[in-house]
Amino acid sequence: MNDRFGRTITYLRLSLTERCTLKCTYCRAAEGDCPKKSELTREELLRITRAFAKIGVNKVRLTGGEPMLRRDLLPIISDIRAIPQIQEITMTTNGQHLPGMSTALKAAGLDRLNISVDSLKPEKFAKITGGGSLERVLTGIDEAFAAGFSSVKLNVVLLRGVNDDETEDFIELTKDRNIQVRFIEYMPLGDTDRAEDRVTGAELLQKHPELVEIAPSYKGQPARDYQMPGYVGKVGLIDPMSHRFCADCNRVRVMSDGMLRSCLGCNEEFSLKEALEQPDDDALIEQIQKAIAQKPSTHCFDTGFTAEKTMSRIGG
Ligand code: SAM
Repeated sequence: MNDRFGRTITYLRLSLTERCTLKCTYCRAAEGDCPKKSELTREELLRITRAFAKIGVNKVRLTGGEPMLRRDLLPIISDIRAIPQIQEITMTTNGQHLPGMSTALKAAGLDRLNISVDSLKPEKFAKITGGGSLERVLTGIDEAFAAGFSSVKLNVVLLRGVNDDETEDFIELTKDRNIQVRFIEYMPLGDTDRAEDRVTGAELLQKHPELVEIAPSYKGQPARDYQMPGYVGKVGLIDPMSHRFCADCNRVRVMSDGMLRSCLGCNEEFSLKEALEQPDDDALIEQIQKAIAQKPSTHCFDTGFTAEKTMSRIGG
């Protein structure tokens, strides 16, 4: 389905839970998570994804909160895999629950993994995440390759004075393996104010002039891709604050409580809950179409806007 600006919506980001194992200061605020009982059930997640597939969505990202906290994660992936229109299923995870799981995730039908890792120093990693284990993330990455994932994307939110001294180490991870390190600009979401510490994509490029820009892999890709000459992997810049990519935006988000957001950087939400009470999917599809039709042309971040909810609540 096209929105009123001619953008074709093909990509659903589906939050499975607001709960998370970690407490990254820039991601989770003091506001607390939505109670587990208000999370969409496996059946509701399937109905919603089927409805999106009917209007042209072909890619789904499972996210949260921490999606791997869902005990029914594997059946949820298998359910979505069985929808004929869905060509790609990806998941963003903090990696804490990944050891021992990659083979099962692949077998259930997961195509790709994004793993968040903001520091390669164990103590700093634990400090940023409120107690997370870097070792588990690194083991998870190794096991993902061993299980047959052909590439792994690593998400790094760069904050000045926190992890901006590690950019070279992150880039070195791309030397021998098909790892895509994606440096993400901090966005003002919820009461996590770190705007002063944001490191922009331009600053990163200034620091690493050796990076060579390469063609995007697909239209609507949020990252601008770069590569170190001779390296196997890639470096991506996701810089929505300094380098807007809304004109090519192809995505919408459904939060774990059944609220639909057509734009991360605007507060408008549409509830799918009432439509889910209907026995057929007509009302559900109608509500989704209504939300897509009203998708704003751009995010509102550069007008001083702060999203009411944190990324962990909206779904990263
Ligand atoms: N728990 C999973 C994880 O850690 O990857 C998935 C959810 S997390 C919200 C998804 C991504 O959003 C993470 O890579 C996180 O670093 C990023 N993120 C969270 N808050 C952000 C913010 N304010 N600005 C930019 N990225 C943010």
